[in-house]
Amino acid sequence: MRFTLAVAAFVVTLGSLPASAAGVDRLYVLYCGEVAGADQSRWSPGVNVGVPIQLSDNCYLIHHAQGWFLWDTGLVDALAATPEGVTGANGALRSKRTKTLAAQLYALGVKPADIKGMAISHTHPDHIGNVELFPQVMLYVQKAEYEWPGEGGAPRFKPEHPVTKLEGDYDVFGDGSVVIISTPGHTPGHQSLLVRLPKTGAVVLSGDAVHFKDNWDNRRVPSTNFNKEQTLASMQRIADIVEKEHGQLWINHDKPQSDAQKKAPDFYE
Ligand SMILES: [Zn+2]
Repeated sequence: MRFTLAVAAFVVTLGSLPASAAGVDRLYVLYCGEVAGADQSRWSPGVNVGVPIQLSDNCYLIHHAQGWFLWDTGLVDALAATPEGVTGANGALRSKRTKTLAAQLYALGVKPADIKGMAISHTHPDHIGNVELFPQVMLYVQKAEYEWPGEGGAPRFKPEHPVTKLEGDYDVFGDGSVVIISTPGHTPGHQSLLVRLPKTGAVVLSGDAVHFKDNWDNRRVPSTNFNKEQTLASMQRIADIVEKEHGQLWINHDKPQSDAQKKAPDFYE
């Protein structure tokens, strides 16, 4: 007579993030454009009114044993044809790009077809500009962002682009090394990325959960954000993760922080 034992294969603890950093070994910071804001208070209501601000715009390329993963795609590469930049948003923003994402990938020997997966923090133009450089690459995006109607009800992405619509966090490679974190507020389905590097340790890539350090330190929410309460809750969630992981927050648009970081072809391990 044999006994059949009930086996609990998995216990998923709600609210916790998968641990370990097995398969990831390199993180590259790529230049993906720059933005000059005419008035910083666009992002910091009531503070530094009328003071211009320079913002960085980065993309991040991650190497994992299972393949390459791209986080954010920056301003559209075609902008590099206009080196002096283009002014938009009624003169409030001037965007430029002095080198393309494609050229930086080429220099690293990475072909678009080598990329296994990609995700964007949200659907603003300085983050989704080059999604279609990778028409065959699986895109991980929150369902709430994917289905958020664009101008005139237009879709945010080409319907034929392969997509995995997420509803919350997602462990990209299944080993806890690269985890998409749901951080809504800036937009309905904004997300951030936790990368657990073997030497550098944990890094949270902010997307636009916050735009620069002073806003982070003072928990300021841009008036143009989709939802203020969600933004504050997401900032707190990121702060909790950074603390628990003894990690770093890398703020995509914070130019002083970005200027101090190693850029591709150099990388973080
Ligand atoms: Zn944005």
